[in-house]
Amino acid sequence: MSGRARARRPEFSKFAMKSMALDRIRELSDLSQVTGDERLSRRYNEMMIQIGKRMDITLEKGMKKKFCKKCYTSYGKTSTIRLRNGMLEVRCGYCGDVRRIPYRVTR
Ligand SMILES: [Zn+2]
Repeated sequence: MSGRARARRPEFSKFAMKSMALDRIRELSDLSQVTGDERLSRRYNEMMIQIGKRMDITLEKGMKKKFCKKCYTSYGKTSTIRLRNGMLEVRCGYCGDVRRIPYRVTR
């Protein structure tokens, strides 16, 4: 159902623009996860951030955790994850940036 051509409409409502952008962001998020190409994956993540910024959209929490904020590399094969003091430490295998995420311990 993709790639349908439509008559050019210069005016979309803000809501429509946002929902289209969000669709695009979700698509990019999925693509960056499934592609085996690291460079392509980074590109997708970068585009995702850019669209979000331009359209003033906050990325969903789960999306943001999937890649490095610094170099946009998707966490995965190259990254290391460890638990320390109740924090989840994710180290990017590409740029070495460490992100700490509070880890909820169920008691
Ligand atoms: Zn990185």
